[in-house]
Amino acid sequence: MIENKGIRVMLHRISHVLLRGLQKIRVTLFFKVPLINHTLKPLFFKTPLVAKGNPQSKLPLFPYFSTSSPRYLLQSMTNTDTNDVEATVRQIMELIDAGADLVRVTVPGVKEVEAIHKIKKNLVEKNKNIPLVADVHFLPEVAEKTAYFVEKVRINPGNFTDKRDYSVSFTENEYQQGFEAMMLCAKSLIDICKKNNTIIRIGVNQGSLCGRIISRYGNTAEALVESALEWIKIAEKYDFHKIVFSIKSSHVKTMMEANLLLYQKMVEMGRVYPFHLGVTEAANEMEGRVKSAIGIGALMLKGLGNTFRVSLTEDPVHEIVFSKLLVTAIQEVNKNKYDSFSNSVLHIHYPEINKEKWWAGVGALVGKWWLTENIKDIKIENQHFAIDEIEKLQNCVLQICHIKKTHTEIIACPSCGRTQYDIQALLKVVKQRFANYPHLKIAVMGCVVNGPGEMADADFGIIGSANEKVAVYKGKERVSDFVSVSEALEILQSIINHSLSLPSVLTDGNDKR
Ligand code: SF4
Repeated sequence: MIENKGIRVMLHRISHVLLRGLQKIRVTLFFKVPLINHTLKPLFFKTPLVAKGNPQSKLPLFPYFSTSSPRYLLQSMTNTDTNDVEATVRQIMELIDAGADLVRVTVPGVKEVEAIHKIKKNLVEKNKNIPLVADVHFLPEVAEKTAYFVEKVRINPGNFTDKRDYSVSFTENEYQQGFEAMMLCAKSLIDICKKNNTIIRIGVNQGSLCGRIISRYGNTAEALVESALEWIKIAEKYDFHKIVFSIKSSHVKTMMEANLLLYQKMVEMGRVYPFHLGVTEAANEMEGRVKSAIGIGALMLKGLGNTFRVSLTEDPVHEIVFSKLLVTAIQEVNKNKYDSFSNSVLHIHYPEINKEKWWAGVGALVGKWWLTENIKDIKIENQHFAIDEIEKLQNCVLQICHIKKTHTEIIACPSCGRTQYDIQALLKVVKQRFANYPHLKIAVMGCVVNGPGEMADADFGIIGSANEKVAVYKGKERVSDFVSVSEALEILQSIINHSLSLPSVLTDGNDKR
């Protein structure tokens, strides 16, 4: 019996290694061919949707996608406590004024369902109606309750019904049972969405894939795509097509590859659903903006994407400001030739005068080449900026593309209503104090619910808990109590010092997923 089980596990592993190998070959081949087939339009675009609750509003939620003038819908997410209705409404109004097309609000539990309902009503009363996206993890019943009145519900397939436990291995039967349990649970949400004209965003995230998918595909681009494909099967089984897909990762290349692979799969199926694009844990300032520009911008240049969010650990209004710059930069770099590639060196001479728009255009072009070429160096020119500004941007893109590391890689979530400490202030301190460890990856995360999973491949991290307390992590392991931010910084410094004194511990900061 034991022997049979051993043989079965061995065969299972061999078959998955082979499968992953084949998939890798397919991914490589796939990127050498033209990518986007514009004759396949996202399915539900035929019926532009209007914001709910205001019959006067003709605001289309998803207008027709046109290849000649793509209209990207700009999204941001509130970072106020959802229960603080007044503050959340105020922030949404600021986002509307900045140009947001839809706003995501976290709904961590049943209590917040009532709060987001009040937020919706309040906005309608103020005639500031905008499509709202309820962000739901772990609790299908919360997704169901919000689906009656918001325009879109974001669920995470990694935690809808499956568990995160990566230590469990699954037999074929158990794997299938896990999928069927999810399908059964999804039915009531889909029924409500059908009746209420609500979209479901299938928000796959590399930091929160379930153990079932990882046991079969590893934590790879293929795993992300499989997780999304399961939901196409589920939605189509119940004849539901108002679905939008997002595949996010803090690893920019994985995010790009997974989205393109999912698109390819949809093309093979003969139907393409809309995509929401984003890079997670991008952090802030230049690095945060450029990471998003590389990942999102490169996909836009391929023609992919209907909505997107530039995640920044800053005031959410900044996300919309940069999103608008990214859209205009994309239009310009798409029309004119500002780039060339020879002898493994990428040259970019985008002569933009607005600094952030310049970052956006350069990022998008870098991402486009990074997808297909083995870049050894990147040279940037722009007569409007001083040498040190140009070098800063050059070092930033070289670091993001893993070509040359000049500083610590810092990742940080944008924070949301689950965050209960000043993450923006902590991020600034961490970036300054721990800047000089180019082989380290350090995370600053908003909450213990999703933080540990999403920073799983960082060497160290600080994660927030309730009441302004945070904890220090070494890899996946919590190594401190919940303490004040200043205490956590000292603990982090001492464990980094200790690790550096050990012979072999620290990593090269590369993708260890
Ligand atoms: S990790 Fe950050 S963005 Fe994600 S749920 Fe927690 S606080 Fe919100």
